Amino acid sequence: MRRLLIAGNWKMNTLRETATALAGALAEAYPQEPDSVEILVCPPFPYLLPVRDAIDGSAVQLGAQNAYHEAPGAYTGEVALDMLLDVGCRWVIVGHSERRHVLGESDELLNKKVQAALAKGLNVIYCVGEKLEQREADQTEQVLDHQMETGLAGCSGDALAKLVVAYEPVWAIGTGVRATKEQAESAHKHLREWLASRYNAELAEQTRILYGGSVKAGDDQQKQETYELLCQPNVDGALVGGASLKAEEFKAIIEAGERAAQAGTNA
Ligand code: PEP
Repeated sequence: MRRLLIAGNWKMNTLRETATALAGALAEAYPQEPDSVEILVCPPFPYLLPVRDAIDGSAVQLGAQNAYHEAPGAYTGEVALDMLLDVGCRWVIVGHSERRHVLGESDELLNKKVQAALAKGLNVIYCVGEKLEQREADQTEQVLDHQMETGLAGCSGDALAKLVVAYEPVWAIGTGVRATKEQAESAHKHLREWLASRYNAELAEQTRILYGGSVKAGDDQQKQETYELLCQPNVDGALVGGASLKAEEFKAIIEAGERAAQAGTNA
């Protein structure tokens, strides 16, 4: 049974005061981990330390949105994996679509980041997802295969014990247009089959695959849709952008995850 993971990607949002207030509200709500759901927040680099202090002793875990794969040294503007570990991060996101498509990170660079982060013992959320034109051209599975193949090149099955995959269709990120639960389930199933064929069935069964892209819980309808999404057998949680910036909405997504886990529909 895979534990659901609800992860908040704060992107380049918050200031110190809002970051610590948001983190504090989550820490207060979750002094202990819910039975069935892991909770993670990924604030901007400058707020990792104050957020770490705000969530200290709670069930909320700390992650970073990016890192550089090289050892500390002459890489102006970059942040080393050792630095993340030093400030209490146990997670790092690699390959977010904004890093791929806005900041121009290549498959080769992302592979180096995945390998280096796993080697350091960090949990990695590796993001994959197709653009709208690729979906419309029926290339979704090809794109996902390519991103998995290149991103995980050189990683042994053992190395992937700390890997979480996030399926984030680019057209759904920050647009308010969420993939349907059927679209998400189909992509997740495909990703799990890829893991089984490239590695083995056990690894595929154990690896969590999150959905990301306009997951919301701002009203009853959105809560129900999020619950139904998280009930899909191959959907093991959510990577949440905009809605993770509002404590109440993020909590409602976590609650939807708890309900989905209780319903026991995940594999
Ligand atoms: C994201 O940034 O990973 C994301 C899914 O954003 P949003 O939830 O805002 O679409």
